[in-house]
Amino acid sequence: MRLSHYFLPLLKETPKEAQIASHRLMLRAGMIQQSSAGIYSWLPLGKKVLDKIAQIVREEQNRAGALEIMMPTIQPAELWQESGRYDDYGAEMLRIRDRHDRDMLYGPTNEEQVTDIFRTHVRSYKALPLNLYHIQWKFRDEVRPRFGIMRGREFLMKDAYSFDLDADRARTAYNRMFVSYLKTFARMGLTAIPMEAETGPIGGDMSHEFIILAETGESGVYFHKDWLNADLVTSVDYDEDLQPVVDRFTSLYARADEKHDPADCPVAVDDLMSLRGIEVGHIFYFGEKYSAAMGATVAGPDGVSVPVHMGSYGIGVSRLVGGIIEASHDDKGIIWPRAVAPFDVAVINLKPDDGACSACAEDIYSRLAGAGCDPLLDDRDERPGAKLASIDLIGIPWQIVIGPRGMANGVVEVKNRATGERVEVSPDSALTMVTGDAI
Ligand code: ATP
Ligand code: MG
Repeated sequence: MRLSHYFLPLLKETPKEAQIASHRLMLRAGMIQQSSAGIYSWLPLGKKVLDKIAQIVREEQNRAGALEIMMPTIQPAELWQESGRYDDYGAEMLRIRDRHDRDMLYGPTNEEQVTDIFRTHVRSYKALPLNLYHIQWKFRDEVRPRFGIMRGREFLMKDAYSFDLDADRARTAYNRMFVSYLKTFARMGLTAIPMEAETGPIGGDMSHEFIILAETGESGVYFHKDWLNADLVTSVDYDEDLQPVVDRFTSLYARADEKHDPADCPVAVDDLMSLRGIEVGHIFYFGEKYSAAMGATVAGPDGVSVPVHMGSYGIGVSRLVGGIIEASHDDKGIIWPRAVAPFDVAVINLKPDDGACSACAEDIYSRLAGAGCDPLLDDRDERPGAKLASIDLIGIPWQIVIGPRGMANGVVEVKNRATGERVEVSPDSALTMVTGDAI
């Protein structure tokens, strides 16, 4: 992409309304624009990152055996009346009436809708296990939308729903999602700590929130310091028994503020850390809650029909954009982990009106694209300082800087955004460094 043809509305001033780094940086980097409280437009740079995150989530869900569907954002009230949640959900639900006076709602989540799909088509245990997910916008009329897209009213969530014959099998489904979440967040360069969560009125012990550490996080978490070096299950295969894997992780203590009881804590004080974090995922086993209320039953091997056991598994896809920035930025701007970066490398031509610089920049740019990289060419007619600052701000992992001084010696400068390291090398070596990192 040529920056001269792109839409990147950078802000010079730090927006007053933004209280945390990710919100400030997303606005300054031209990623989002507020439409109304907690509702945002995603501009090209932001949309690219959002899509990359969604794609990682999708690939890991598919690998774990979940099947992608797409349910609508607008749902009929009847389904929620069946489960009893139409009244319970309260003011967070956006209620709508259509021209025929039918009560509708903008979905805050999809348990009812997916249960309706299931009960329409599945009658026998032979169709199980089944896990259906979608990546879809949700609306929750949050009391205090804040921190930009981190606590929005409209936000993008991946929500998966598992269906199993009994509680044991449901645990297997839960474990698969548990492991897939660790893999998903690791691919984004994040350490996510699964923290035992409240299960609410349903009880049981099967609910975990996945927390990434950040000072500005809204969740307080106590955890064993080994979490910081936890082996991130990348090598775990879904064919193996996942219970020992999950046990290994859950044996490493992690509790929310309100659940941490110093008297009960098995971790020595020296090994215990207390930090703040951002909830980026939440998995939950809730058994027969919706299936019993909505008549989603399956006949078991003995022919007896029983309500199916369900779990639900959410990932805050849009929240992750902010979460990753909170975990990875400096005073110059965003530092994207390679896997979610909007572009792999920026080719910065400091002097577009210089023939040698332009020829070199064009050559590097087209060879990068040919090598399977996604390069951004800064060919704007701007001051060199402004160019360097804006590319630092938008956080592209690699920069190849081309200027007249280097050209005289046949070299370009390669800068690694994360480490700040710079080297002067030939254009060929620059290409090798950058594309080598991509493989
Ligand atoms: P929170 O405790 O942050 O309010 P929640 O428990 O209500 O979240 P879930 O229903 O578990 O959220 O939703 C699954 C995921 O969706 C959360 O882990 C979070 O990452 C994301 N999410 C929830 N609410 C919002 C929101 N208002 N804005 C952005 N992402 C959200
Ligand atoms: Mg939650």
